[in-house]
Amino acid sequence: MKKELIIIGGGYAGTTLINKLESKFTITLIDENKYHIEQTEIHRYLGGQILLDDLIFKYENYSKKKNFNYINKTVTKLDFENNIVFMDNESLKYDYLVISNGSKTFFPKQIKNLDFHKKDIKLLEVIKNFKNDFDSLLKIKNKKINIVIAGAGLSGVEIAIELAQKIKDNNISPNDMKITLVEQQKTILPGNNDFLINKTKEVLNNFDVTCVHNEFITQIEDNKIILSNNEEIFYDLSLFVLGVSTINIKNENNIEVNIKNQYIVNDYFQINDFSNVFCIGDAAQTLSPEGKYNLPTAQMANQQAEVLSSNLKNILKNKTFIIKELKLKGVLIDLGKNNAVGLIGNLKLNGYIAFILKRFTSYLHKIKF
Ligand SMILES: Cc1cc2nc3c(=O)[nH]c(=O)nc-3n(C[C@H](O)[C@H](O)[C@H](O)COP(=O)(O)OP(=O)(O)OC[C@H]3O[C@@H](n4cnc5c(N)ncnc54)[C@H](O)[C@@H]3O)c2cc1C
Repeated sequence: MKKELIIIGGGYAGTTLINKLESKFTITLIDENKYHIEQTEIHRYLGGQILLDDLIFKYENYSKKKNFNYINKTVTKLDFENNIVFMDNESLKYDYLVISNGSKTFFPKQIKNLDFHKKDIKLLEVIKNFKNDFDSLLKIKNKKINIVIAGAGLSGVEIAIELAQKIKDNNISPNDMKITLVEQQKTILPGNNDFLINKTKEVLNNFDVTCVHNEFITQIEDNKIILSNNEEIFYDLSLFVLGVSTINIKNENNIEVNIKNQYIVNDYFQINDFSNVFCIGDAAQTLSPEGKYNLPTAQMANQQAEVLSSNLKNILKNKTFIIKELKLKGVLIDLGKNNAVGLIGNLKLNGYIAFILKRFTSYLHKIKF
């Protein structure tokens, strides 16, 4: 009899794990969505570079192809003592549990009224609505349009540039359709290498995207955001991409989480004393070889899933667990049509080569499905 393995969340971590395990367990994937969304390509969908079918992958088809069970429900509670996962009107027992429920967009409580304007870019409906709204704005003639993107991290800059590219492709002047990126830190792409920052700045400048730094948003109204210096920026369309935070699934066992609600896991991604419960991806707090917190990235989620798949197979072979250093291999940032910038180790990449490499990483992800 194969052991029962439940995986909560079919994001990057969950799907990599499923593929690597090659049906060695009876796998049940529980995901509250019907589709896996390739989050690293959302900006390209918004800018019209790819179609929806290239962005989302139906779990139903995937589960048939890879021979696992799929349940389209939200996990509401966990009981680690008794090995039970609870959903609405249903519960399931497991031998092994992997929590890979990822993260949601972070909406700081300090921003007044943000609760009424929350749009989580990780949700398909939000992505589709934003694109529809943007496409409708492109069609309006003789009107000054303002788009505000709050947060100039990797997702913020990629989205701003992709929208700017589309505006240019439609022969609309950036004065008529203006994009403003707001970042509370001193620079765009905070924490990134200067090479990436400078190349990205160059492109934002070329597209006439306005960058507002060093001011944080204090309030959002129906048509404007207000900054800490009381400046008001009017918008027709806005999007907040200020980082992520995990939604911790309720559990009976008082499990330790960090300030971002991530589970604190050991070197084998196990949670506390529960040797049959693992957590990977954005939902887990892991450390780099230098002892720094690993940023939540798809790349990190994939690495963790690969190590965990080896260890789950080792359980079946009565072998000891392996430990592998988790290290970000590099960063690639899309900068519009056929253009990207990247830093892989010490190797600086720019232009078409970086763009092709980024597409290749996306291709490697897509062929999983
Ligand atoms: C716009 C954008 C651009 C990005 N670009 C990059 C990039 O270029 N490179 C990079 O490395 N990373 C990028 N990231 C980050 C990357 O997408 C995440 O780090 C990655 O998705 C984490 O994978 P995960 O498997 O942990 O979680 P996710 O991929 O978020 O998957 C979690 C899954 O769990 C499901 N779920 C959640 N709660 C429950 C529940 N209670 N019950 C059932 N199901 C549940 C969700 O429906 C979802 O399918 C980007 C993120 C965004 C939003």
